[in-house]
Amino acid sequence: MEMEKAVKMFFFPFVGGGHQIPLIDTARVFASHGATSTILTTPSNAPHFHNSITRDQQNGLPITVHTLPADIPDTDMSAGPMVDTSALLEPLRHFLLQHPPDCIVVDMFHRWAGDILHQLRIPRIIFTGNGCFARCVHENIMEHVSLQSLSSDSEPFVVPNLPDAIEMTRSQLPVFMRNPSLFPDRIKQLEENSFGTIINSFHDLEPAYADHIRAELGKKAWLVGPVSLCNRTVADKTERGKPHTIDEQKLLNWLNSKKPNSVLYVSFGSLVRLPSEQLREIAYGLEASDQPFIWVVGNVLNSSKNEENGNGIPEGFEQRMKELDKGLMLRGWAPQLLILGHDAIGGFMTHCGWNSTLEGVCSGVPMITWPLTAEQFSNEKLITKVLRIGVQVGSKEWVMWNTEWKEFVGREKVEFAVKKLMVESEEAKEMRTRVRDIAGKAIRAVEHGGTSYNDAEALIQELKARRLGNQI
Ligand code: UDP
Repeated sequence: MEMEKAVKMFFFPFVGGGHQIPLIDTARVFASHGATSTILTTPSNAPHFHNSITRDQQNGLPITVHTLPADIPDTDMSAGPMVDTSALLEPLRHFLLQHPPDCIVVDMFHRWAGDILHQLRIPRIIFTGNGCFARCVHENIMEHVSLQSLSSDSEPFVVPNLPDAIEMTRSQLPVFMRNPSLFPDRIKQLEENSFGTIINSFHDLEPAYADHIRAELGKKAWLVGPVSLCNRTVADKTERGKPHTIDEQKLLNWLNSKKPNSVLYVSFGSLVRLPSEQLREIAYGLEASDQPFIWVVGNVLNSSKNEENGNGIPEGFEQRMKELDKGLMLRGWAPQLLILGHDAIGGFMTHCGWNSTLEGVCSGVPMITWPLTAEQFSNEKLITKVLRIGVQVGSKEWVMWNTEWKEFVGREKVEFAVKKLMVESEEAKEMRTRVRDIAGKAIRAVEHGGTSYNDAEALIQELKARRLGNQI
């Protein structure tokens, strides 16, 4: 009988990085709840998660990958949000006509997808990649604050209509909020005609904001995260995102040689490029703090023409850190979940990307917040003001991920924040206790009967009811 059949869900992630990774995990979560899950992707992105999906299949999960035969140039794992993916439109139409699903979960950056999904009457659910708090902050600012009437970019204002008193400045907001004409209408349209949104978060992390989204902003929202927790085995943790490029055994040996909670992990995500001037300040700040660290040095935004070695890292720094056994520098893709989950890690210097934020939380690791772009300044407020599990490094200026910077964070600020988090103190201990408590709640949320588990089940039930034309 039709009603007995598993629901058929398609997942259409963006082509890389911080949007692709959680939506792949979300597909795996729904497969573990019995939904027949299909990931739609490009031929060049499919290999990044091939191994984890194969492992799921071997474990009997109903999950497959379908590649849409069109490629998006210049992506890999660091596709910027403005990358145009519309070359996928025709292959997507073709596939949907042949295999209509019960719903498609679509990333908001596939801006063009609204029309075609509407034409084909495919129910859609939006994935924005953000948590509830940041969404509430942004939507309330857009709705209630006249940003033009603030006296300056640095004048603080309290975001109205929120459960907590959260202060922001104009300089911390994305350019499209400061100038709404830049906000792509098509994203709005994609979302407005959706029947809800899947959020990678869990109720106990931000309860007032989850309620706020549902009640005040009138959105159907299913909180099914933290989806990274579906990576339970070492293999899944190690290969997430894409196969890493480092010597795993060397890394683990190094971590094993360190005391519990003693190492700071430094990473700025998959996309952001730091200017060489900033890398230099980080290097000096880390050295002065005298705390062990692992630093994932991403791509460099070459704003300085004068640097000798091109990446700003002081001559001899890496060698010195190695000899003193103080720090490990990683280049390329790092196995972040594996690193954060190691006992030796005691702090995370992060750009506050939502995935990294959740991964820090789930690993029970307090954070040094260094927001740069997207909704990261809001995530910083959640971490430092609401949850009180981190300290701010003091970045003030929202930057486009790939453009020149006006301001740098100096080495003294880096040193100060690192010491504040990593040198044992009452404050540091309290932050650690709080984040561990939340980490426990995260695990309970995704276990059988937890809130995220139940939200995933509820969405599946809703899709079944819709299939019968019996919409709830
Ligand atoms: N990531 C990783 N290794 C890296 C860089 C990033 O595994 O070297 C993963 C990280 O664990 C997270 C995602 O990439 O899941 C980055 O997402 P986030 O939202 O933190 O930041 P974005 O990359 O979107 O700026």
